[in-house]
Amino acid sequence: MTCEELIAYLSSYIDHEMDAALVAEVQEHIAHCRNCRVVLDTTQRLIVLVHDEGQRTIPAGQRRALFERLHRAFLNRPQTWDDSNAQASEGNTV
Ligand SMILES: [Zn+2]
Repeated sequence: MTCEELIAYLSSYIDHEMDAALVAEVQEHIAHCRNCRVVLDTTQRLIVLVHDEGQRTIPAGQRRALFERLHRAFLNRPQTWDDSNAQASEGNTV
């Protein structure tokens, strides 16, 4: 499973509306991918928070907007881990 696939499945995963096989794939992915683990953790926390405030679920529209924002942020995330490589190659043009 890729990061993009995981984000696409995030909503179903959190709602427990997922095949056991897919759940296993998600869990395997987040075991190796810190990025997705953070995204999943943050989203789950956010939804639990809404639960605690007395609302059973986030309204569908708001929820969709949340996941769309997550997806966009994820695709446009700054690749900070490449910084050192980028800087190293800058002064080293072939
Ligand atoms: Zn990932």
